[in-house]
Amino acid sequence: TKYVYRFSEGDKDQKELLGGKGANLAEMTRLGLPVPPGFTITTDACRAYLASGAVPEELSVQVTRALREVEEELGRELGAADDPLLVSVRSGAKFSMPGMMETVLNIGLNDESVRGLAEASNDPRFAWDSYRRLIQMFGKTVLDVDGEHFSEALEAKKASRGVALDYELDVEALTELVGEFKEIVRTHAGIDFPLDPRAQLDMATEAVFRSWNTERAHLYRRREKIPHDLGTAVNVCTMVFGNMGQTSGTGVCFTRDPSTGRSGVYGDYLVNAQGEDVVAGIRNTLSLADLESLDRDSYDELRGIMRRLETHYRDLCDIEFTIERGKLWMLQTRVGKRTAAAAFRVATQLVDEKLITMDEALTRVTGEQLTQLMFPQFDDDTERDLLTRAMPASPGAAVGRIVFDNAEAVSRAEAGESVILVRRETNPDDLPGMVAATGVLTARGGKTSHAAVVARGMGKTCVCGAEALEVDASAKTLRVAGREEVFTSEDVIAIDGTTGEVFLGEVAVVDSPVMTYLRRGLEEALDTAGDVDTRELVTSVHRLMRHADKVRRLEVRANADTPEDARRAVHRGAQGVGLCRTEHMFLGERKQFVQNLILADSQEGREAALAELLPLQKGDFVEMLETMDGKPMTVRLIDPPLHEFLPDITELSVKVALDRERGTLDPADERLLSVVRRNHESNPMLGLRGVRLLLTMPGLIELQVRAIAEAAVERLAKGGDPRPEIMIPLVGSVRELQVVRERAAAVLAEVSADSGYALDFPIGCMIELPRAAVSADTIAEEADFFSFGTNDLTQTTWGFSRDDVESVFFKEYLDLGVFGVSPFETIDERGVGRVVAIGAERGRETKPDLKLGVCGEHGGDPESIGFFHRSGLNYVSCSPFRVPVARLEAGRVAI
Ligand code: PEP
Ligand code: MG
Repeated sequence: TKYVYRFSEGDKDQKELLGGKGANLAEMTRLGLPVPPGFTITTDACRAYLASGAVPEELSVQVTRALREVEEELGRELGAADDPLLVSVRSGAKFSMPGMMETVLNIGLNDESVRGLAEASNDPRFAWDSYRRLIQMFGKTVLDVDGEHFSEALEAKKASRGVALDYELDVEALTELVGEFKEIVRTHAGIDFPLDPRAQLDMATEAVFRSWNTERAHLYRRREKIPHDLGTAVNVCTMVFGNMGQTSGTGVCFTRDPSTGRSGVYGDYLVNAQGEDVVAGIRNTLSLADLESLDRDSYDELRGIMRRLETHYRDLCDIEFTIERGKLWMLQTRVGKRTAAAAFRVATQLVDEKLITMDEALTRVTGEQLTQLMFPQFDDDTERDLLTRAMPASPGAAVGRIVFDNAEAVSRAEAGESVILVRRETNPDDLPGMVAATGVLTARGGKTSHAAVVARGMGKTCVCGAEALEVDASAKTLRVAGREEVFTSEDVIAIDGTTGEVFLGEVAVVDSPVMTYLRRGLEEALDTAGDVDTRELVTSVHRLMRHADKVRRLEVRANADTPEDARRAVHRGAQGVGLCRTEHMFLGERKQFVQNLILADSQEGREAALAELLPLQKGDFVEMLETMDGKPMTVRLIDPPLHEFLPDITELSVKVALDRERGTLDPADERLLSVVRRNHESNPMLGLRGVRLLLTMPGLIELQVRAIAEAAVERLAKGGDPRPEIMIPLVGSVRELQVVRERAAAVLAEVSADSGYALDFPIGCMIELPRAAVSADTIAEEADFFSFGTNDLTQTTWGFSRDDVESVFFKEYLDLGVFGVSPFETIDERGVGRVVAIGAERGRETKPDLKLGVCGEHGGDPESIGFFHRSGLNYVSCSPFRVPVARLEAGRVAI
């Protein structure tokens, strides 16, 4: 097996094997950009290591060869006493996992080569500082020594010399520190710091492999839905130094603003610093424009490369670079992470610049990003108490109580509280807290700091670099420059990730511009948009939505039970109602009428109860059909278990027992209790519900179909165009459907004869039992359409009670990797998805034109929509809020 690739051997399409970083380093090398020589150890090697616990022997041999080649190219040797070659060892998986895995810099330094470096660089202080950084990083990441020991020793050294900053320590102090750091390693790791350069390299490589499986890496992958079995590649790259004095530095830049999407370059630069200092957000940074005045040549070269990379990747690129004594080096590039707003704007900008087509632009935005843009924003017009203003790092409006550490963020969020994680700066260990919090606020660091990058990736609101804040995590207090108060974890703050504002107390929220667009259309959204950025965003969303509508094959309908929901759905572009759950029309005050029906013990009693329900149900339908005029509206006959219409068995039993004791028992209650007892089921979701209830409760089918038919007649009489479709739930056998169909058809015929209008509405069924899917060829004989009820189909295929399992054991199942995401959220393609595919295929064997839809929650889930498209369904139906998302996703998958 080939485990090692020189940078000159790979290219950008080999992310699976070389990881994202490795593949892109190779691509830049191929483009002839200034990349320090190096090589990548493949993800295959990592997987082999993780499987066997040992480095494959071939790998060691191949590393030797690649290393020799690099040494020959540079005319220097790893860790040599004279002008030593030093390397960095960095992780790099297929998908970027910022800060989640390990990095070790300055590999190759030891007691001898440190002198060689001092001489070659003509800067002994720099050499010894690099050496102490190596021992510190190596100790922490490779040998698992608690980082605190090193920080404490460093602080103590500064105190003893009476200096405040790291770089004020002189050579002598740093030399002493190296000795002390080695001692720390000996004490806490039980071994000596390895002086052999190759041993350092091998141990660091293994540490990177192992870091694939740390807890935080697992957590990150679970959140980002990255598979756990990919493994990471390891990049071994010649060190170049941004900390060789004032003509050196290091930076991160973007070819467009990843936060707003504004066109024009964007970046952070630190003079005399190493790469990790920028990302860690430890020092506040300069802007790219400042670099222009500091080092014009490097700046011009960098700008040229940025343009070249953007044209080459045809997308926003994110770049890490270092300048070593005036010489520019490219350390990394990739297609950059961006906020939802930036994704939309950049996509259409690139279309306008003729770098990509509209089809491609559509694949660059996601339903999830659209969802984020639909969230409310803070209301500018209300009174607000501004605490400070800092860098808007990840947009959104978040309100919550302050928390100062991870554990507290997690526990309070679990208790249902909305919290804002407030930190001086964040590091990768803060991931659980960032996941739990509704927003993140930091006092230090730029837009490319860890907090900002991770928050953007998660779509979490973040404001960073708020220098006015003084955060004391141990005392759990927050002070703000210029204010007297001391804030604690009892105080509520509100952060605006779009403007960077931080407010004290709750702030009211209003519709986002994109929401205004979806609700009221482009013109009004543009009229109310405050600035150019917002107008560009709204226009961009509009163009991409229109394109999605043009290319998609799936129709999008909405699940709506009320006229108001139906109206909302139509505004958002729904082409019909795919599911009107009629039982929702029987709840509240109307429950009593249903109860009367259940309790009726004579034909007359039943008819009286039905007569009361008919006008109510008809009234509902008239309004809905008016809203949906000219569009299909699928009305599902009653579905839920009978007991939902009856009082709770325990409560009623207690009441009857107490009343009996007191001698105040009402005989009606006693009778009700016996009915409740008789109808009590252990597994109501698998009991008397859906078509079973329709078939066993006399008069129910006739009532509902008559209400639909008469409502349609009323609309027709007014010149309307009602298009109801009658849908039967929980069908398992064709016979069930046949009986319902006959009775429904009879009612339609009767109302038609009475009114003189033709009422040949389609009658179809839901497919939500495996039996129905498997025998769909037969069921299709009686059905004019199918709609897959994937909520129940998931429940019945897995045997998971949909009301119980998620809260009971799904967390464990997710941890165990039984599934990566709840099958109630995203369709389980291999199981439930196959059942859907079987139902679709068999149904169409009988009726090639059979209309197929989905109305379970999955109908609004971006990933599932792709699957339904591929399975050849005709439409998805989802909640009104998700309609725009479904339209966009249906467009994306059609490309
Ligand atoms: C379903 O089962 O997927 C469905 C849409 O019906 P309900 O959720 O009402 O059971
Ligand atoms: Mg169902």
